Amino acid sequence: MENLNKIFKALEFAANRHKYQTRKGVGKIPYINHPIRVAKTLIDFDEDDSDLIVAALLHDVVEDTAQGEQQIKGLSDLILQMFGENVLLAVLEVTDNKSLSVEERKKMQVQLTPRLSDRAKKIKIADKICNIQDIIDDPPEGWSEDRKIAYLDWAKQVVSGARGLNHEMDAYFDEVYSTSMRKLE
Ligand code: ZN
Repeated sequence: MENLNKIFKALEFAANRHKYQTRKGVGKIPYINHPIRVAKTLIDFDEDDSDLIVAALLHDVVEDTAQGEQQIKGLSDLILQMFGENVLLAVLEVTDNKSLSVEERKKMQVQLTPRLSDRAKKIKIADKICNIQDIIDDPPEGWSEDRKIAYLDWAKQVVSGARGLNHEMDAYFDEVYSTSMRKLE
């Protein structure tokens, strides 16, 4: 029950932080659906470490709801206080540095992922699975087929640096990647 408490506290916290945001897709799906799905993907593949599930629920909170050093520091302190160091570390590991350009951030993800902690690597794979599924089911407005294919290929590169911790989830990524690619080509 203690874990369930922590998980629902994280769910409420993330829902609050993302409350005015929607996904990029034409469907304007509430943003919170995404971290819920990332957490559920991990649970579906038998991941039951509560710090991992909590970090998955919070994985986009710093990147998407805090701007500038001051806000990031304040939010990090709050996450540390509420959810502990393991959760904060994993969340910060999967947070892009927004002072870099989108292209640089993409390059950094490929370069840095092999050095991430196990928790952060698992979140990366689940995140990319969900993002690819969204690109097929609820594509971002104005994305050409080429742009979608480029995203899938980049996601595969990132995931190649995160493999080896959960073989079923790795295999599921490959399956989602190939079925999605087939739909695009
Ligand atoms: Zn995400």
